[in-house]
Order: sequence, then structure tokens, then C-alpha cells
Amino acid sequence: MDLRLTAKEKRFREEVRDFIATNLPEDIRSHLRAGHPPTKDHIVRWHRILNTRGWATAHWPKEWGGAGLSPVERMILTEEIFLAPAPTPLVFNSSMIGPVIIQFGSEEQKRQFLPKIANLDIWFCQGFSEPDAGSDLASLRTLARRDGDHYVVTGQKIWTTMAHHADWMFCLVRTDPAAKKQVGISMLLIDMKTPGVTVRPIMSIDGHHHLNEVFLDEVRVPVENRVGEENKGWDYAKFLLGHERTGIAGVGRSKERLSYARELATQVKAGKRPLAEDPCFREQLALIEADLKALEITQLRVVAGHAGHHADKPDPLTSVLKVRGTELYQAVCELACRSAGPAAIAIQPAGGAADELDAAPRWGAALAPSYFYSRAASIYGGSNEIQKNILAKTVLGL
Ligand SMILES: Cc1cc2nc3c(=O)[nH]c(=O)nc-3n(C[C@H](O)[C@H](O)[C@H](O)COP(=O)(O)OP(=O)(O)OC[C@H]3O[C@@H](n4cnc5c(N)ncnc54)[C@H](O)[C@@H]3O)c2cc1C
Repeated sequence: MDLRLTAKEKRFREEVRDFIATNLPEDIRSHLRAGHPPTKDHIVRWHRILNTRGWATAHWPKEWGGAGLSPVERMILTEEIFLAPAPTPLVFNSSMIGPVIIQFGSEEQKRQFLPKIANLDIWFCQGFSEPDAGSDLASLRTLARRDGDHYVVTGQKIWTTMAHHADWMFCLVRTDPAAKKQVGISMLLIDMKTPGVTVRPIMSIDGHHHLNEVFLDEVRVPVENRVGEENKGWDYAKFLLGHERTGIAGVGRSKERLSYARELATQVKAGKRPLAEDPCFREQLALIEADLKALEITQLRVVAGHAGHHADKPDPLTSVLKVRGTELYQAVCELACRSAGPAAIAIQPAGGAADELDAAPRWGAALAPSYFYSRAASIYGGSNEIQKNILAKTVLGL
């Protein structure tokens, strides 16, 4: 297998790089470079800029506003966005519910939702997980009772990322409680403004509000908002989760954080020399860099495989990318944190404390929150333990 990029792919990388350099607003770039999570405004603005080229939904067919990119081109685009650094297109819209509606939605749903999903005029959130239904998602209990041309939905969702920004939620509900676990589940599109929907924040360890609980109390959802057939939701969920794992290696994201750690290490001292010249720091940096290179090559092999004869099937090797990618991302965030020394303590300076911090690097305080949040990467998108189970079964045949 030839893993070198073709001349056309190299030209595409240049085109993406130029576009980002010209169009990415500096306030967004510098906010992300300092290690802060993007705001809603950052995500919406940048998603719409990408959409002017069809790059917010790059893998969608052109007919629905995508750019019809190949898997390798899409990988290049994702990497360049991470390297900028810029926010990625809203994953719930472009990689999750969009492809599901294209594949299984009604013509009416395609016309109503796809253009708005592509331009982030509608923000979707993902209502899958519930208390006691995370890794074992098929145990979900949220009930949808049919009442004429509506479903009446009652239950609770949890860990719903950015539900507080969302206009709509794609939601798994149980429509046949008598059937066995995986059967009897349907997928509904729920307008977050419907009476009975309550969103409550969960503050995470980085001090930010990313996550929520969503309570559904007798929420009336028109039957035409069901995606595909009743009781076939599990099939659509599996299709959607296969898409979720695309790009999960986050090679570009780790590379960008590594370059930031390197930059910081030139600004602080280890004894009399800059930290960047310290042999222990250099060794840690080199080890991560080598592992990252190996991951990049593995990713290319997986993506090149997808471009060939396995194109329509999820490749179990994506689980390798998830596990290794998140481990390396966490290692890079830890290294960046170490470069700030005690200044990387997550404090919110107030009054006099801010003056005391003047002696320490200002950038330090942003690093611990992003390190803490990096721990979540090995849980969301299917926890790493579950990925290892998949590898044990499907690759090693254990
Ligand atoms: C930051 C973040 C954002 C998220 N966003 C969303 C979202 O937007 N929408 C949504 O629906 N969900 C979201 N989730 C939920 C996420 O999908 C679940 O947290 C994940 O699937 C794990 O489920 P759980 O938390 O219930 O843990 P559990 O399933 O209870 O697992 C607990 C631990 O046991 C391990 N474990 C469980 N079963 C097995 C097994 N069979 N073999 C070996 N080990 C096992 C797990 O790996 C884990 O370490 C998010 C989670 C996080 C952390």
C-alpha cells in the first residue's frame, strides 16, 4: 500500500491551508491556541465560513451541500483545521445526524433539515446516553408512547454535550418496551422548545459548562419527526456511531498541542537554560512525537483502506485510532501542563491573587483546565475499555 499523498492531495492540503490562513478570524485562533474551549459564537461563525466551501459537511454528497471529498481529503481537511487551530465543524450536525438523514430520512426531512444542519442554522445535540445506559446503550429506558399522530416521550438523558446551545436533539427512545433490548428502539428529532423539555447543566472538572442532563416530561413529538422506521432506531444509531469515530485519532489536534508545548518551553527556564533545551523535556517530547508519527501512519492505512474495497463498512481498526489517539492527546496535554510548572494550577485569580500571578507565565492557568478535560476523551465516543473489547473480538478473535 502506497501511503504517500498524491500530487492532487498535496495541492488540496495547500488549498485548505491558504483558505484557513485567509479566513480564520484571529480572535478565534488565539483563543484556541491558548488552550480555551471554543464558545458557541466561535463554533457557529467558523462552521458557516467552512460551509461557504462545502467543507463543514465535506463528506456529504454535493447534492446536499457537501463537497464530496474522498476519505483522504477529508482527513487532510480535519488535520489542517486542528493545526490552525480552529473549531471543528459541529460534529452532531455534520458527522452524526446529517449522514443519518441523508441515508434514512424522508424526502421532507431532507429538505427541511439538511441545508440548515449544513449551515448551522439549526444546532443539534445527541440524546443517546442515560443513567445506566452509557456503554450499554441498548438498556435505554426513555419511553415514547404513540398517541394518534404524536409520540409522547418521557425519560432522562445525560452527558448531553452543549444541549444548552441546541435547537434540536436527535434522540433514541423505546417504542416497544416488550421487545428485546436492541429491538423496539426508534430515533426521534425533538425540538428543544417543546413543552416538557428541561435542560440542567453539569459543570465539568475544567470549570466549564459543556455537559447537561435533559429531562423529557410528556413531550409531544409529531410522528413525522421519526427518522426511518419505527423500532429500527438501533440500526440508525450503529450507522451514526460508525461516523462518530471518523477522525477520532485527532492527530492534528495532538500535533498542534505539541507545537504549543514546544513554544512554551522556549519561554520558561529550567535552571539557567530554557526548558526547551532540557534533556529530560526533549526526551519526553521526542517520545510523544515518534508515537504520534506512528499513529499518523496507522491512520493513513485505515483511511486508505476505507477509500478502497472496505468503503461501506466501519473498520475495527478505527478502535486502535481512538485508543491510541486519546492516550497521546492526554500525554501531550500533560506535557504542556508540566512546562508551566506551578503556574499551571487551575485557579481563577481574583483581586490581589492576579498581581501575584504576574511573576508567573500568564498562559499557565489555561493549561490545567484543558489537561483535565482531555481526560474525557478516553470516555466519550465509546470508552477505551469498550474499544479494547471490540479489538479483542473482531481483530484478535479472542
Ligand atoms: C465529555 C463527554 C461528552 C459526552 N457527550 C455526550 C453526548 O453529547 N450525548 C450522549 O448521548 N452521550 C454523551 N456522552 C456519554 C458517553 O457516550 C458515555 O459517557 C460513555 O458511553 C460511557 O458510558 P457511561 O458514562 O455510562 O459509563 P459506563 O458505561 O457506566 O462505564 C463505566 C466504566 O466501566 C467500563 N465498562 C463498562 N462496560 C464495560 C465492559 N463491558 N467491559 C469493560 N469495561 C466496561 C467503561 O469503559 C468505563 O470505564 C459524553 C460523555 C463525556 C465524558
